[in-house]
Amino acid sequence: MNNTTRHLHRFHGGLHLPAHKDLSSDSAVVSMPLPKRLVLPLSQHIGEPAEALVKPGERVLKGQMIAQARGYVSVPIHASSSGTVVEIAEHAVPHPSGLRAPCVIIETDGRDEAAPDTLSGDPLQLDPNELRNRVRNAGIVGLGGAGFPSFIKLNPGPNRTIHTLLINGAECEPYITCDDRLMREHAADIVSGAKILQHALHATECIIAVEDNKPEAAAALRAALAATAAETIEVVLIPTRYPTGGEKQLIKVITGREVPSQGLPADVGVVCHNPGTAVAIYRALLHGEPLISRIVTVTGAGISRPGNYAVRIGTLMADIIAAAGGYTSAAHRLLMGGPMMGFALGSDAIPIVKTTNCLLVASRDELPLPQTPAPCIRCGACVDACPADLLPQQLYWYAHARDFDKLQDHSLFDCIECGCCAHVCPSHLPLVQYYRFAKTEIWNQEREREKADVARQRHEFRLFRMEREKDERAARLKQKQKALQTPAETGADPKKAAIQAALDRVKAKKSTADIAPKNTDNLSAEQQRAIVDADARRHSAKPAAPTAETTVGDDS
Ligand code: SF4
Ligand code: SF4
Repeated sequence: MNNTTRHLHRFHGGLHLPAHKDLSSDSAVVSMPLPKRLVLPLSQHIGEPAEALVKPGERVLKGQMIAQARGYVSVPIHASSSGTVVEIAEHAVPHPSGLRAPCVIIETDGRDEAAPDTLSGDPLQLDPNELRNRVRNAGIVGLGGAGFPSFIKLNPGPNRTIHTLLINGAECEPYITCDDRLMREHAADIVSGAKILQHALHATECIIAVEDNKPEAAAALRAALAATAAETIEVVLIPTRYPTGGEKQLIKVITGREVPSQGLPADVGVVCHNPGTAVAIYRALLHGEPLISRIVTVTGAGISRPGNYAVRIGTLMADIIAAAGGYTSAAHRLLMGGPMMGFALGSDAIPIVKTTNCLLVASRDELPLPQTPAPCIRCGACVDACPADLLPQQLYWYAHARDFDKLQDHSLFDCIECGCCAHVCPSHLPLVQYYRFAKTEIWNQEREREKADVARQRHEFRLFRMEREKDERAARLKQKQKALQTPAETGADPKKAAIQAALDRVKAKKSTADIAPKNTDNLSAEQQRAIVDADARRHSAKPAAPTAETTVGDDS
């Protein structure tokens, strides 16, 4: 099937932006030399950070799991090459705030010695559960930039049927070309990965969506499809418009369906994966390689040799920039990601992580410093541009006023932070920064609320336990008092009752002694014989007269 038979749809808003892709799109992927040092953050994905499994001084192999997943929304981290763990310490990581976070730091030994393969098999014969486990154990997350653990997307739940797998080859953000190069150079691997994903999801069709400004990528994918039996997979060219690569926007374009507010693509029977993720799954399940490298676009007027580089996860950005010929005199700002959704970094001594798709070293002309914001003039340009059908100026007012309830009423969490609103705002309001701030505040409040709920539950349980113990004590006291009640009250003689209770205790003890097995292994032959005799006497009808052998105190 081709586009002549598939009716495409339009999403609201969006922008036509200058692509700036020609800086790097014609450069074939170059493998970066192995760095001397790898810095591997324990958190490179959405969800709980992984938990280190290694200690300083330990030798590790390429592909060895060095940190295990913690909790459900989490994936492990693997050593990107062989070497020695020199430190597990806080290190600068890619984050808009300049955050430092725990990292495993490895000095590589240049041998690149691989750990034994625990992942590969015949994926199309694997049970989907086992397949998901292997995808998880390979540490695979969405490589489009979000970093969501891929195995979770392969588990849509019992109540959802997935009919369409979408491979998102839109790559709509300016400057970035890593997916374009991957589709051109590894089309067959993408198709193999798509088949595995389709098998895992039981999806009846797979669509590889490519923007129409990447004709070479589409041609390579079609050639790969022609060379293999893949009747249910097709390549669809879609109009170039930012942000077509947003999941909800792409689903709208391809299927015409709207993913509900705060819903998931699986709610409309669709699952999206990035082409890089499809290749990572293919490599893990066919070649036993966990996610230890990725392609990164290094571009901008501030770079000597813009291009696409195959990079080990954990390589410092400074090393990649050096491999790309270093900075030019035009270098002004370093961003991770593109100019719309990326964020500025204060240093290049920061590692590449699983979600790093681009390093943009922009000149002043490419990325001028933000202008001084002016008051909102309610022009509505942001509303027209918003691809999520939101009211960006309203969100801005509520974020400014820290009215978090109203923000949630206005679907703040449907904002994909595409930056279209800020791009068109004549008042130069940093709208996306306000939304990110508000989301972080709401998440923090949620976490605090959860903590408070746990503390309250603990307190309530403690009170319940104290109350229960008090009741038990009262019941025991009542029982004792009942036992000591006067004969007038019970009609029984307390003295007789006490004697009878003592007799009952002795009787119980005696019967226990009779049935308790005796451990006589450590006794002398004489002592053992004495025990046998005593038992015989105890069981005879008439008590035997004491003998010299059994008389207590007799030493003879
Ligand atoms: S584009 Fe800017 S000035 Fe216009 S309504 Fe939106 S926030 Fe206000
Ligand atoms: S950043 Fe959010 S509010 Fe602004 S246009 Fe994009 S989706 Fe809409």
